[in-house]
Parts: sequence; C-alpha cells; structure tokens
Amino acid sequence: MITRFAPSPTGPLHLGHAYSAMLAYDMAMAAGGTFLLRIEDIDQSRARPEWEKQIHDDLSWLGLSWPTPVRRQSDHLPTYTAALDQLWNAGLLFPCYCSRRDIAAAASAPQEGAQMGPDGIIYPGTCKHLPRPSQRPTDCALRLDMAKVAQQISYIEQGQTYIIPARFFTEAIGDVVLARRDMGTSYHLSVVVDDAAQNISHVIRGADLEEATPIHIILQKILNLPTPAYHHHRLIRDQNGKRLAKRDDARAISKYRAEGATPNDIRRMVGLPAV
Ligand code: GLU
Repeated sequence: MITRFAPSPTGPLHLGHAYSAMLAYDMAMAAGGTFLLRIEDIDQSRARPEWEKQIHDDLSWLGLSWPTPVRRQSDHLPTYTAALDQLWNAGLLFPCYCSRRDIAAAASAPQEGAQMGPDGIIYPGTCKHLPRPSQRPTDCALRLDMAKVAQQISYIEQGQTYIIPARFFTEAIGDVVLARRDMGTSYHLSVVVDDAAQNISHVIRGADLEEATPIHIILQKILNLPTPAYHHHRLIRDQNGKRLAKRDDARAISKYRAEGATPNDIRRMVGLPAV
C-alpha cells in the first residue's frame, strides 16, 4: 500500500490536516506500506516556502516520516504540460476565454438556469464552438470536452465498488478546466498525474474532495493511468460544526504544540488511537 498526504503550502496545517496525514500514515504502516508527502504548489501566487517548511516541521513533530526527496509539483510542470499536449492532440480540450462573470451571466440566462458542479457553475458552453487553433494556446484556460469522454466508470471507495453512469459526467460535472491561464495546469490534472507517477495505491483525503473524484477517474481513463482505491474521511469541524479552513489559525497544529500539547493529544482530539 502506498498512501500520500498532499498539502498546498498556502497556510498553516490545522487539526483537519493532522487527521488526514496521520490516517494516511497509520493505514500505510498497518499494511507494511509506504507513506509519501507531496507538496501541491502549482498555485505559485499563494504558495510560500515558509509554509512548506512548517508542513515538514509539523508532520515530523506528529511522528510521521516519509522517503525523500519529496515531490514538489512546481518541479514537475513539464510533466503536466505533456499530459495536456496528449489531451490536446487527441482533440479532447478546447480553449476558453470566459471570466467567472461571463460564466455566471451565461449560465443564469432564463433558458439556461445555473447548475452547480464540483468546480462551481457547470460550464454553459460559450467557447466550445470557437474555431480550434492548430497550436495549443497558452493565453487562455483549456477545458475538457466532457461529451467526448463521458463513459461509465467504477471505483472503490472504502472497499465498496461504486458505478457512475456516463451521463453523470455531462449533466453533473461538465467541461472542467484542466489548465488555468495563470498556471498552465490545474489541481485535477496535476493530482492525477502525480498519483500515478508516485504509484499511489490508496488516496486518503477529506470528504470535501469526494465530489471531484469522478473527474480524477475519467482523467485516469483518458490518460491511460491506473485508478487507485479511495478513502474519503470525515471532516474535522469546530465546535459550531463548521469545517476547518486554512485561515483558522487558532486550530493550527503549531499553536497546540506551542501550548504544550503532545502528538498523542492531537491524535485524541481527532479521534485516532494514541501510539
Ligand atoms: N492539495 C489538496 C489540498 O490541500 C489536496 C489534494 C488531494 O489530496 O487530492 O486540499
């Protein structure tokens, strides 16, 4: 079993991250497998070296260890470009020049009605019929033409097989962005390429990413990559039942540590057995 924790270095790790990382670590160790750390820093406008360093410190303090060198997404941009080229050459992507506002306006036209998918409003198709340039453009977003790739898929979530029909992809997901104009790739594309590059057998992550999982599986299919097993875990919430976010500095692992908590205290707080 190979599991991973894949944080973005855009803020402090909080109790929710600690739970995710320790669960992925514990599951790998229980199976005699390997736990990997991956730094998801394609959003260079938000990633900071000091947050990356803090991630290493916090996880080591929690008692986790992982093989080095750690994969950092910003070191692998050509790999994502190669995957994009593959999809572009297969005619599966189209350029999109819409702003968020354009999409909201087009989707809320009376005859359309805005429908929400995992990435927000389902794309209303505005740029889909523009003439296709011969070269892959880089001055715009690139969207996956979902109608061309929609197919029935199955995957394993916590040991159970789930089947998703082809029409779910066109009706509930739509033409997702695979390359953002400002970063030349996207979370969905990079995570799929990296999980395959690192031979991840089990993706263990928060339930907030469960609705993005069908996107990842369809990408694995069209890029000829293996589909790992998935385990989406419950989210750690504050006393008001609200999901923790990066800006909830009060729950930062480093704060608990500074206040004298031990790693086993953190384990108890998130409902994991002490070690
Ligand atoms: N980098 C993502 C995050 O910090 C997690 C990606 C994943 O686990 O698939 O939310």
